[in-house]
Order: sequence, then structure tokens, then C-alpha cells
Amino acid sequence: MTFNHSNWTIKETSFNIDHLAKFESIFAQGNGRIGLRNALEEAYVTETRGMFVAGTFNKAFTNEVTELPNFMDVTRFDIYVDGELFSLLHGTVHEYERILSLKHGEVIRHVTWESPKGTTLKLTFRRFVSSSERDLIAQRINIQSLSEKPLQLKIKTGIDGTMHNHGSQHFTEESKRVYDESFLQYGGTTSQSNVYVSANVACRAHLNGEEFDKRFSFARREIMFTYDVSLEKKATFVVEKMSIIHSTRDGENQDVSTETIDHNAYQRIKMVYDEGYDEWLKKNNQTWDMFWGKNDIRIESEDPFDVIAVRFAIYHMNIMTPKHDSRMSIAAKGLTGEGYKGHTFWDKDIFILPFWIYHQPEVAKSLVEYRYQSLLGAKKKATENGYEGAMYPWESAWINDGEVTPEEGGTDIYTGKPERIITGKKEIHITADVIYGLWHYWKMTGDDAFMHQKGYEMVFETARFWLSRLEYNPENDFYEINDIIGPDEYKEHVNNNHYTNYMAKWNIELAIRNYEILKETLPNVYEQLSDRFSLEHMIEEAKEKVKKIFLQEPREDNIIAQDDTYLSLKEIDLHPYKNLDRAGAIMDDYNITQISKLKVSKQADVVVLPFLFKDLFDEETLKANVDYYEAHTLHDSSLSLSTYAIMSKEIGKLQQSYSLFKQACRIDLGPQPHSSDMGIHAASLGGIWEVAIMGYAGVRQKDGRLNIDPVLPEQWNRISFAIWFRNQRIYFDITKTKLSIKTEQKIDLIVQAEPVIVQGKMDFDI
Ligand code: BGC
Repeated sequence: MTFNHSNWTIKETSFNIDHLAKFESIFAQGNGRIGLRNALEEAYVTETRGMFVAGTFNKAFTNEVTELPNFMDVTRFDIYVDGELFSLLHGTVHEYERILSLKHGEVIRHVTWESPKGTTLKLTFRRFVSSSERDLIAQRINIQSLSEKPLQLKIKTGIDGTMHNHGSQHFTEESKRVYDESFLQYGGTTSQSNVYVSANVACRAHLNGEEFDKRFSFARREIMFTYDVSLEKKATFVVEKMSIIHSTRDGENQDVSTETIDHNAYQRIKMVYDEGYDEWLKKNNQTWDMFWGKNDIRIESEDPFDVIAVRFAIYHMNIMTPKHDSRMSIAAKGLTGEGYKGHTFWDKDIFILPFWIYHQPEVAKSLVEYRYQSLLGAKKKATENGYEGAMYPWESAWINDGEVTPEEGGTDIYTGKPERIITGKKEIHITADVIYGLWHYWKMTGDDAFMHQKGYEMVFETARFWLSRLEYNPENDFYEINDIIGPDEYKEHVNNNHYTNYMAKWNIELAIRNYEILKETLPNVYEQLSDRFSLEHMIEEAKEKVKKIFLQEPREDNIIAQDDTYLSLKEIDLHPYKNLDRAGAIMDDYNITQISKLKVSKQADVVVLPFLFKDLFDEETLKANVDYYEAHTLHDSSLSLSTYAIMSKEIGKLQQSYSLFKQACRIDLGPQPHSSDMGIHAASLGGIWEVAIMGYAGVRQKDGRLNIDPVLPEQWNRISFAIWFRNQRIYFDITKTKLSIKTEQKIDLIVQAEPVIVQGKMDFDI
């Protein structure tokens, strides 16, 4: 793989069958509604071809959980050259490169290929998922003959309805139609959630500038066009294919009949077809230009890889986010693969949401709104588990689903039975993480209206959950939280995980504070909410209990125990498992019950707290805990690295910080051929942005004020970018010695720990 930061591209320089799935994920394209893996046009047995559409969840079998279904495929082209199927596994590949443009989301592949019989072709494949049209995928293929003799080409492409998620077929075939001999339509419905999908394609081909005719054919779960072409030397055959995907999950189609959806999709494909690849590409590029105009981060680094890695993170955050519909959220693998079934985790609230809060608060609002709309499911989960209020799902999908974490996972190799997954019941910190995301959004934007209409309800309902979840310990006269999993998933069934107890307490305190502010300053809102949620009684209970929530106290050496037993667990030599290019090596030697008894962490846990709450730990406590826990952490979850990179910067360990940052960048962009097979690592990508902006540029929110405290790594000479804070645009330009801040209106900031009022441009020495 090579990177070119000046033209914003990532290039795959040779074809490697073992790297197919990785490149399908990292070169994936999308627009937040459609996510398309970059499977090659010609099929390979080991490929994982996939297209996912946000919000279309379905349960394939009753004993499975809902997942994002793999849609019918529109990207495959079977190309026969003198009867031989074009495949890079046969013949000779004279030239190969595939390039992803982060700037415009287009992928271009150049191949010069000689068939086993000695026929040579030059092929160029181009593809994008339109960022200006949510329903459009466009492709163009140029095939030029370099052979002396005329050759026979046969090209077959269309809609393939046989796609599945590793064996689970989600769609029943409903209909197949051809309109005007030019447009193919395939209708399918998901087996359980009843989502109707209308996939439509149109192809136009030219030979030597003349339009070329095709025929169509049907087979079970497929509908295809075929071109039969006789190609002279140097002649070029060009095919353009446009695909339009509509479904009943589209906001405008919710109450529309399938016939109307088909009709509208047909009208749309006709319209799209008239304009052609170049025209739609122009519009796509303009939309991307506008996106980057607002959101680019310009970094000058001695290692240009850093520049690309941060842009790659932003590119993926843009294509994974369903900005168009607040009933949908961001999955742990974005829309790039089947991993984690398209479900949303705390990854979104803590690691990805900040990017949108700082750069496009209106998108952040939609993501927070998703959590508001999911309250129903959260209340359902609380009731099912015997609690009150709203208990957010550890994994969530469609807004009303509630908990969708599978209860069974991989196979226990000794018993042959599936392993139990208990995170859905036990990883309860998610409830407070959701509220943290809401609070972060509110503090950065000052969007009081959202809080009045929706936010307070979320805060009160979640506080109510925590109050019912606390367990009274009469011996010590305190409340504790037992038998859970904290952020560190290598510790199951722990008591008093410090992160969880602290976040629960914070969530309850936020409810108390909000209640009091409302009562004093907004009697109307207060009365409405108070009646609806019988607040008086709850707040009384909250005040009583919150004083007695148990929190781990720092030891003499300032270490804060991760939970009741962590510090007394057995130490083992972690060298064989740390800093490897693959995660989970410790699982080769121990099972999860054994790992739970060892002093080893999968990911950041205690250390997430000072990341969320600036200055929560004093200097010594921070240093002691970052050092102690980093030494015991394997970073087997990719989202651990960014937290430690930021906290290492905060304790002055810049080299360690930069090396963790690099490690995070290499999760998807490094040489490991299989790290991203099931999809990119969304939280890690959000984390990369967090390291750049909240870490090195040092822009962090504390109690509703923006703090700026930059320290650039040795390799970086400059970083410049703009963010939003309370409806104001703030521009930053930071070098190793100077910080420039520019604003239009007056704004109160804390710069390098000093309060300052900035208006216009102000420079500070670093
Ligand atoms: C991590 C979780 C994370 C999930 C989804 C797990 O491996 O431990 O913290 O939310 O992956 O990315």
C-alpha cells in the first residue's frame, strides 16, 4: 500500500488474493445511507462482497439477533475474453493499481492483463457511491484490446439477489422486471422485519463512440444484461452502470406501497441514466469539496502517513454516518462489513460523536436524537431486567428493538457449545455513556431547546435506572454496583468497577443539577417534566443515595483500583501478548474465565475517566494511573489506543503518545492483512481524530468552557482546522511555538490554563 498525502490517495499497488477482504473494507465507499465494500468487479471465491443500507435490520432466524442484511449485489461484472473468464488468478497481470481518493470517494483501478491464451487487455474500473444522491451508485468500465487479432468479449452484469450474511439469507425474492428493455428492477423483502427493497440498474455501452446493444436474461434470484462484443485491436468498449436503491426504510417511503416504491425508483433510474457517470461524478465531487472545506484538518508532519491517516479517519466517519435520518446510528464497523452486525455501541457516543459535535453540530444532533428515539427500547430493557427508567442497550439497532447483543458467540472448543456473551446484560456503563454524549453535545453547542424537548427526559430516565440498579451494602452503609463488566472486557462479573460507579454517580448528579436549575430558572419546563416523570420523589431518593455511592479511593501510590479485586489479581508476563500486529493473542493461551483472574486489561478503563472529564485527576494521580494501567493493557480493543495516546500526551510522554497514535492509525492502514476483514474500526477512526484535536491540539471542553492546551509531537510542525463552539466558528493554527486563534465574535476561552477573551485573531506563545 502506498500513500500520497498531496493528492489525498491510498494506492493498492499489486493484486493479492489474501488481501481482498481488507481492501474491500478500507476502500469501502458510501454516503451514510449506502455502504459498499470495494469488492472487485470480477468475483473471487475468497471475496466478501457486501452492500449495507443503514437501518434495514432483519433477523434471519428466530434464534439469531437482528443484523444489517447484505443487499443484492449490483457491482459484479463477469467478463469473458474469447471464452475465458477474466480473473487475476489466471494469465499474467502486467499492471495493477487501485486508488481510493479520500477527497472525492472515487475508486479507480487500472489493470493490464494477458489471458492464458495470450490475449492482452487494458481495463479501467471506476466507481463511486454518490455523496450528493443518497440512492445512487455509479460505475464505469473501459476495456481496450491490445491484441493483434480481434477478440470476442462477453460481459454480464445486473442484479444478483443471492447475497447473504455468512450463510444467512435475509431477503425473499419478490419481483424481477425489465422496463423499456433498458432498466432492470429487482424487488426483495427482508424475512422478518419486512423491509421492501427495490434495486434498479441501467447500463449504457459504447464501442468506438457508437451506442452498443445488450440483451437481458433472468435466472433464480438474478436479472442480468449481457453484451457480446467483437473488439478490434486498440478499440475500447465502455460500459456505464447506474444503480438506484430504494426501500421502505427511507423516510419518504415509510407509508408507501411497494408498487409506488418500484414506480418511483424506475422514474429515478431513468433520470439518473440520462445524465451519465461524468455528470454525477461532478456533483459527487462538489458535495465532497463542501464537506472537506468545512472539516479538513491540515497537518504538517515529517511523516506524511499521519496526514493521510487523519484524512482516512474523517473520510470513513463521513461515509459511515446516516446524517439523513435520526432513526439510524453509527455501527462499530460503519457500513463496511458484517462485523458486529451493524450494531451501535458506546463507540458512537464516546469516540465518534465528538467529531460531529466539533465539526457539524447538526449531524451530532441527529445522532443524539437517535438515542432519544431509542428511549422506548431502553425502557423495555430496564423492565425486562427488573429495573426502572431507561437502561440503554449495550448493542442497539432499530430504535424500538432494545437490547440486541447476541447471547451466544464463538464455539467453546472443549465442549463444542457456543460461548455465552454476557455484555448485553452486564456492560451497563453504556447508559451513562449515552448521557455523556448528550451532555457533551449540549455543552459544546448550548442547544437548550434540545434539552428542554428531549435531553432532560433522557437524563431523568437514566438516573432513575441507576437508582434502581444501585445495591445497598448494609455492612458499610454504601451503595455499590456488583456483577458487571466495565469498559475492560477482560474482566467479567466484577464489583464496583470504578468507571461504571463514577459514571453512574455523575449521571445521577446531572439529574439533580438539571432538576434544580429547571426549578429555579424555567418553571414552565420544570412543571411539565415534573408531572410527567414524578420527579420530586425521584430527586429526593437521588440526593440520599448519591452521597453514598462507593468509589474506589486512590491507594497511597495514587493508583485507583479498576474494581474491587483488580489490584490483587495475579500478574503474568504480558510481553508475549503486547504490541503485536494482531489482537487477542492472549486468547490462544487462556479462556475468558482465566483471563478474568489475571491482572491484564483488554482496553482503557479507569483512564477513560480523565479523558472524559478534563482535570478530574490531579497530575500525580493521572501519571500514576496512566503508567500503571498502560503496562497492564494489551489494547486488544482498537479503541483503547486513542485514549492512552491522549492521556500519555497529558502526562508529558509525547513519544509514547505518538507511538500509540501510530499504532491506532495502523489498525486499518497497516500491513496486517486481516485486521479489517469484517469492516473498518469505527471507534478507532474517531479516536484518531480525537488524538489530533483533543490530544495534540489540546481542544477540550470543561464545564461548558473550551480549553486549549496544545503540544505537538516532535514529528508534527503544524496543525490547522476550524471547529464550532456555541454557534461560533473558531479557527486554530498551531505550530510547535505558536498558537493562533481566530473568531468572529467575542468568546471566553481557557488558553494554556489562563482565561482569555478572544475576538479576531490572537496569537499565544507555546
Ligand atoms: C470492545 C468494546 C467495543 C466493541 C465494539 C469490543 O471489542 O471491547 O469496547 O465497544 O468492541 O467496537
